[in-house]
Order: sequence, then structure tokens, then C-alpha cells
Amino acid sequence: MSKKQDPSRRGLVPLADRIRWATALRLGLLAAAIVLWQALPSERADVGLPLPPMAVGYLVLCLLTPLSPRVGRQFAIAIASAGLLADGLCGAILLVSLGGPTGMVTYLIVVHVMGVCLLMSFRSGIKVALWHSIAVMCAIEMVRDGVFQAVTATTEFPYRHYVVFLAAIWLTALTTSTFAATNERELKKRRFSAEVLHELAVALQLLQNADEIAGLLTRTMVTELSMTRGIVILADAVTDLAADQALSEANDSGAPVLLRRVVAARNPHLDRVLPNLGTAVVLPIPVDRTIGGWLVLEVPRRTARIGLQRWMLSTASQAASQSGLALARAMLVRQLRNAASTDGLTGVLNRRMFDEHLARELARAQRTGGSIAVALVDLDHFKRVNDEHGHLVGDEVLRVAASALQSATRSTDVVARYGGEEFGVVLAGVTRSDASAAAERLRASLVNAQAPVPISGSVGVAISQDGSATSMTLLGAADRALYRAKAAGRNRCEIESSGPADENEVSAAMRLTA
Ligand code: GH3
Ligand code: MG
Ligand code: MG
Repeated sequence: MSKKQDPSRRGLVPLADRIRWATALRLGLLAAAIVLWQALPSERADVGLPLPPMAVGYLVLCLLTPLSPRVGRQFAIAIASAGLLADGLCGAILLVSLGGPTGMVTYLIVVHVMGVCLLMSFRSGIKVALWHSIAVMCAIEMVRDGVFQAVTATTEFPYRHYVVFLAAIWLTALTTSTFAATNERELKKRRFSAEVLHELAVALQLLQNADEIAGLLTRTMVTELSMTRGIVILADAVTDLAADQALSEANDSGAPVLLRRVVAARNPHLDRVLPNLGTAVVLPIPVDRTIGGWLVLEVPRRTARIGLQRWMLSTASQAASQSGLALARAMLVRQLRNAASTDGLTGVLNRRMFDEHLARELARAQRTGGSIAVALVDLDHFKRVNDEHGHLVGDEVLRVAASALQSATRSTDVVARYGGEEFGVVLAGVTRSDASAAAERLRASLVNAQAPVPISGSVGVAISQDGSATSMTLLGAADRALYRAKAAGRNRCEIESSGPADENEVSAAMRLTA
């Protein structure tokens, strides 16, 4: 984990707020000191220092400190540190002037140490406790040596009293800091976790692809939680779920599964995707009330030794759930896109997509001067199929015909349902003889299709060899060719060209037998 990422290094409360609270503490202590001074005249010792002007100076310093963050962070930190030094000096002077190390001023110093531990940091608390110890010791020594003209000056250093004073402030510093640090660490981890999850949620909103979502989840968790490796296994990719113990356990329980060591025999899938996996945690990714996949994270040895912390597990679980929502959304978007672009009965592209594709290919052909052909395929006497065998058989025939046409074309050619029992095929970059051959393949595929009843189709092809045709002229020409094929007896191909014919083209019209 980098220093920037380490949750324990980032402050919970902004510096300006800390400084404001520290000022409130100082003002409170100053007020308490004045009250004590007035209330305990018998405990006062005149050390020969001008206490009222010093109190006013301290008050001014306190009131100016909250303005320091406006200048800059470093300046504010410097002023806050100078303020702590001033606190130590004032505390020591007040202590020797009012009751010594066992007097009431000790309580004010204890409260100050406690406040610094809570408002600043563990380290500031220890430093200020040390500074109070030194300042008070020096002040007592100076009184003893007569540097200050204290009325109650003694020749002996008050060891016993000073030790009690030390015990009070150090005990306060250590206990307050320890307890505060424990709480603060936990709060910082929670804030870090919330920030990581927030950033992940924002980034997930931009993704609509399962692989991208899986990649983002893996990267985020491996980086932010300092894992050794990670992977997302999508449920579609696992055919033998029961064979993999960890995956099926996470699947059944819906809860994370911790693996001390991954054994290939028990976890073949995990071993295949992440070989030599050490300690790992497998987190199920819930998608639409089922498990859509698993987030697998390899835990570094050191983390595994001390135990995976609860906040890490909870962060990873929440990240997996968020990604599950994103996966569900991606699936929905894919389904909607499919529904908007394909024909519900046959599964091939619909008329809208056919028109869009044809327009795109024509534009490309016009740019490059390339050739493009369109074939319209109309099933012969299809009405009879419906009439004699019913519409359900008719539908099945349409499905089989669409699939037969698709398998008769190249992967770059596009098959679409053009109308009721008509299909359109866009053949880009073909010569006239290629187009004739493709038309014949389409026709033959219908005759050979394993349909519930024997079927055939007539094919009208139009080709533009220089890319000069428009959608309308090309489709019009294909339609005319189709009409000719029907008129000539059906189950045949006719080709109509808007450019010069190939030299080896024998005939534009072909009589082809099944
Ligand atoms: P031709 O050889 O001249 O093309 O004769 P045809 O009977 O195939 O042509 P016609 O246009 O007379 O009939 C087409 C039929 O296709 C009429 C219509 O009921 C049927 N049809 C259109 N869409 C569907 C469909 O989605 N399912 C079913 N079962 N039939 C459909
Ligand atoms: Mg028709
Ligand atoms: Mg027909």
C-alpha cells in the first residue's frame, strides 16, 4: 500500500478544524488559570514575572492562530507547533507561580496533554508531554537557583512532587493517545474503504461491457487492498462448477470463502486461471439473484499471516456487489440492444439494421470506388406452407431458412430479415461472378435446409461495381431481379448489374436446379 493510499496516514478532521478546537481548548485553560489565580491567593508565589501582560500576549496568540490556515498549510502547522511551545512555557510559569507540581495547575497541564493527544496526534501528544516535563523541571530549577525570585523558593528540588507530576502527564499522554489511535485507525480505514467504493461506483457507471467491469473490479481491489494478484471469473466461463470446491462453496453460501492453500485437485478452475495460488479469498458476485461470477484475490503472505482484516473483506465484498449491479445493467443493455437490432423470430438482423448496414457499406464503396452487391431472397410459395401446415410450422421454416442463409454466407456478409418471408443479404467487395456464386450458395442452402417441409427460394441480386449506386437503386434492381426469378419459375437466381459485366460472365440470368 503506498503512503498516499495507506488509510492510517490520512487525517480524519481537517487541519483548520483541529486548530479551531485547539484554540477553544487554550482559551478554556486560560480562563481556568485566571479563575484558579483568583481563587487560590494563598498558593500564589511571586516569581517576579509580569504575568498579566504575558496572559494578554498569550490570549492574542490564541486568537490569531485560527487565521493561520488562510496563509497556508505549512504556515498553520508551524504556528500550531509554536503555540504548543508557548503552552509549555506558560504552563511551567503558572505551575511554579501557583501551587507547584502538586497544585491545581497540574490538572490544567493534564487536560492540555489530553486535548493535544485527541486533537493533534499520538506523536504531538508525546512531544507535548515531554515538553511540559522539561519546561516544568527547568522552571523549578530556576526558582531553586534564584533566577526567579519566588517567595516560596526552596533549596531542594521537589523530586517526589515532580515524579507525581510526571506520572500524571505521561499516563494521560500514553493512555489517551493509545485509545484515540485505536478508534482513529478504524475510522480512517472506514473512510478509505468508502472512498475506494465511491470511486469504483463512479467508474463502473461508464462501463457496459462485462470484461471491462471485471477488469476494473480486479485492478481496483488488487491496487487499493494491496493484494498480490486477482481475477474475476464470470459464471459463463465455468462449465464444471461442481468440480471446483471453492467456487461452488461461494456459489452456494453467497459468502466469501477463504482458502489457506489452493490445491489443484480440489480447485481445478482456480488453479487454471491463477496457477500456484497461495492464500486466496473467493468472493461471489451477485447478479440478479444468482451468482454471476467470483472475484478471486490472492492475499500477500504477510497479510495472510496476521489474518485478512475485516475491513478489507468487507470492502472487497461490497465492491463485488457493486460490480454485480453493473454486470446486471450491462446484461440488460446487451439484451435491449439485441432486441432493437435483431428479428425476434429468426435471430438475424432486422430491417432497420439491414438498412443502416447497407447505407454504411454503400458510403464506403463510394469513398473507395469498390463494389457492393445486395441479394433479396424470397421463400417460394410460403403462403402454402402456412395454409397447409399452420403458422407454427411456417415460423419454424423461417427460423431454419434464416440459419441456412447465414451459414451460406461469409462472416463479413450481413443477413437480415427484410420482410415477412424475405431476407436481404449485403455482400460487400464482391465481383459480379462472386455475387453470382454467393446467390447460388444462398439458393442451394434453402433447398438443402433441414426444414419441417421441403422449401426453396428465389434470389434477386443487384451489383454496383463502382460504388455509384444508392440504397434505393440497388434494392430496386435486386427487387426487379427477384421478380424475374419468380416469373421464370422460382427456385433460381437472377442478377442485375449497374456496372460492366465480368468478361468471363456467361449469362446474367442463371437457371439453377436444386
Ligand atoms: P411467392 O412464391 O410468390 O413468394 O409466394 P408466397 O406464398 O411465398 O408469397 P406471399 O407474399 O403470397 O405470401 C407470403 C406469406 O408469408 C404470407 C404471410 O402470411 C407469410 N408470413 C409473413 N410473415 C410471416 C411470419 O412471421 N410467420 C409465418 N408463419 N408466416 C409469415
Ligand atoms: Mg414475399
Ligand atoms: Mg414468397
